[in-house]
Amino acid sequence: AKTLAASNVASRIPPYKGLLRKLKEVYNVLGRETQLTLAEKILYSHLYSVEESLLSNTQSGKVVRGNATLKLKPDRVAMQDASAQMALLQFMSCGLPSTAVPTSIHCDHMIVGERGADVDLPASITGNKEVFDFLESAAKKYGIEFWPPGAGIIHQTVLENYAAPGLMMLGTDSHTPNAGGLGAIAIGVGGADAVDAMVDAPWELKAPRILGVKLQGQLSGWAAPKDVIMKLAGLLTVRGGTGFIIEYFGPGVYTLSCTGMATISNMGAEVGATTSLFPFTQSMMPYLRSTHRFDLLREVGSYALLSGEGNQLLRADPEALYDEVVTIDLSSLEPHINGPFTPDLSTPLSQFKDAVKINKWPESFGAGLIGSCTNSSYQDMTRAENIVKQASAVGLEPKADFFITPGSEQIRATLARDSTLETFSSAGGTVLANACGPCIGQWKRTDGVSKGETNAIFSSYNRNFKGRNDGNPSTMNFLASPEIVTAMSYAGSTIFNPLTDTIPTPSGNPFQFSPPSGLDLPSAGFAQGKPEFAPNPGVPSPDHPVIISPTSDRLAVLEPFAPFPAGELEGLRVLYKVKGQCTTDTISAAGPWLKYKGHLPNISANTLIGAVNAETGETNIAYDHYNLAESGEPPKSGIPQLAEKWKNQGKEWMVVAESNYGEGSAREHAALQPRYLGARVILAKGFARIHETNLKKQGIVPLVFDHEDDYETVRAGDVVSTIGLYDMLRNGGKGDVSLKCVKKDGEQIIKVRHTISKDQAGFILAGSALNLLAKKEGT
Ligand code: SF4
Repeated sequence: AKTLAASNVASRIPPYKGLLRKLKEVYNVLGRETQLTLAEKILYSHLYSVEESLLSNTQSGKVVRGNATLKLKPDRVAMQDASAQMALLQFMSCGLPSTAVPTSIHCDHMIVGERGADVDLPASITGNKEVFDFLESAAKKYGIEFWPPGAGIIHQTVLENYAAPGLMMLGTDSHTPNAGGLGAIAIGVGGADAVDAMVDAPWELKAPRILGVKLQGQLSGWAAPKDVIMKLAGLLTVRGGTGFIIEYFGPGVYTLSCTGMATISNMGAEVGATTSLFPFTQSMMPYLRSTHRFDLLREVGSYALLSGEGNQLLRADPEALYDEVVTIDLSSLEPHINGPFTPDLSTPLSQFKDAVKINKWPESFGAGLIGSCTNSSYQDMTRAENIVKQASAVGLEPKADFFITPGSEQIRATLARDSTLETFSSAGGTVLANACGPCIGQWKRTDGVSKGETNAIFSSYNRNFKGRNDGNPSTMNFLASPEIVTAMSYAGSTIFNPLTDTIPTPSGNPFQFSPPSGLDLPSAGFAQGKPEFAPNPGVPSPDHPVIISPTSDRLAVLEPFAPFPAGELEGLRVLYKVKGQCTTDTISAAGPWLKYKGHLPNISANTLIGAVNAETGETNIAYDHYNLAESGEPPKSGIPQLAEKWKNQGKEWMVVAESNYGEGSAREHAALQPRYLGARVILAKGFARIHETNLKKQGIVPLVFDHEDDYETVRAGDVVSTIGLYDMLRNGGKGDVSLKCVKKDGEQIIKVRHTISKDQAGFILAGSALNLLAKKEGT
């Protein structure tokens, strides 16, 4: 059968020949004796310049991990509908005719889960029409493959169609590492990073350290791949993987299904890892065959089996060293339940009843939800189906509401063909659209649980932060494998242990589940989905109009930012002096503002609204010392309102802040918004690395106090000019910079530092990185 995957196959095979050539260069530079992990092989074979990244960037010349800045050229980009909006708007501002690398858009986050796919999908399409129309029209123009609403969740679609051993890709979503189950390096990034790859600008990454997870033994009974990562999350905690790539190795790896490895890689995001990946295993071949990817199958077959000097692209070298190693024995692994409210609160199933009692968690729960991008493989669903069949055979019905989210049209159609969905529906389950739905807060509950009411749910999803599923911060989401969620849904009780406890059947007999069984893959291959969910072919149509209504409040074309003035900055105003922590969420709040992600002027009304005023202790209250009221007092207003007032007066400004300014997620809006409102400089005690880079990309100059004490002396009302900044920028980042700060009672010179490189100096002079690129393209 021809499937959705059949079109545009050529661009879906990684450039293996070129990657192997690059890998040879890597060994030449690092020394033939070097033993590399798989993660290093794939990353380094995607460098623009091996010498530049691996030699000149490191102090000793060979200590790459944790030191070198890698300039990478990813093979592919995937974007989900929410984050794709600003990424595309930025891409459009470069004036390029098409993306430099194959790119795809997946409409999944804006679709609700409530009454079932037939009702929810059309309603969501109507409600988000202007966004979907924009994404589809831009995709057509620039040759991006567009997967329409209902086609599936980004990571499942990527696994079925694009993921490949040795591939390196970026995705604008944190669970992009899902593709690591098929041996790819797939990294979740913000939109601005995706744009780097789309315009063929180097994507920078500090060389990660490598955490090896050695798997031994083999899963059996109720234990599922999900339990591997649930246990690991408990061991590492939500921050334990930060700065690391998690690479799995050991004999246990070769016992896992390809989709099981994807589940494990997916949830590596829950421990903060840069990404997770598995080496090439034989279980990947039948998966590629089932998903009808025959060209890739042939290619991978030849490269995976290359032997000889131990430098195959798709496996680690035999003596590769990991920075840290964790060992997990699959044979003794028991099912785990993680939560509530954090995915690293991990409890083995045998101890969960006690944990419920000790913590006074609810003893009953109202909904069991299976599927999502994490757990909707054929293996997951047929094991859950087996549980349902066991229960139906003795006349049991689920006590909790039971929801099923297929991850893609391909898996949905296959489960429909093989009667799995019928089994779920007959048991009272509701099959939701092939989309994120309840996993991302698009869940309108109809079971009468009111906001603020403490209650529990069980899901096979990956995240369980407060309010994530139903907007109710008192809903406790316990994460488990689909088979455990399904079995527990029949008891509706959090203290039920399906391995040991019984449920009374309608005839009064005690019933105990047997361990679930299922199939890794459909024996007849995956079914053809509905044709309306197939993507467009990904061929640019330069004349195709991009649909953005001029009256839209959700989308607005990005106007290029003005270049740096020819000379020093003069007369900068101090908008705000921030006290304490200032995350990207402080600078650009999420929640209801997410609706405006594609409309820079509208979302800019949330700029810095979470910031505490160091001079008054107030939050989001700024004082206009430069336009005094008749009383002689500075008028007060919200921060974005004052910034906008100055923008309208043509006055540029700066922010003063403390340490680690811009920590948190890599949200490019936190740099775009201040820039749009007229920021030129952020002066801080220190910056979070990614945000500092984002600021430079948008043409804002991040400066660091040479003497932290000077933070105390700068105030709103000061007038600041730069000394040496213009020359430094023109000299490619070389030269000293200081600030002249004119105060009511005199002048002060403040010494500052910066980390602006030659490339970044070019961005700032041009007004933004994209301006520079557009200039080079001659548009
Ligand atoms: Fe993210 Fe959930 Fe959607 Fe997966 S299903 S992409 S975790 S929102």
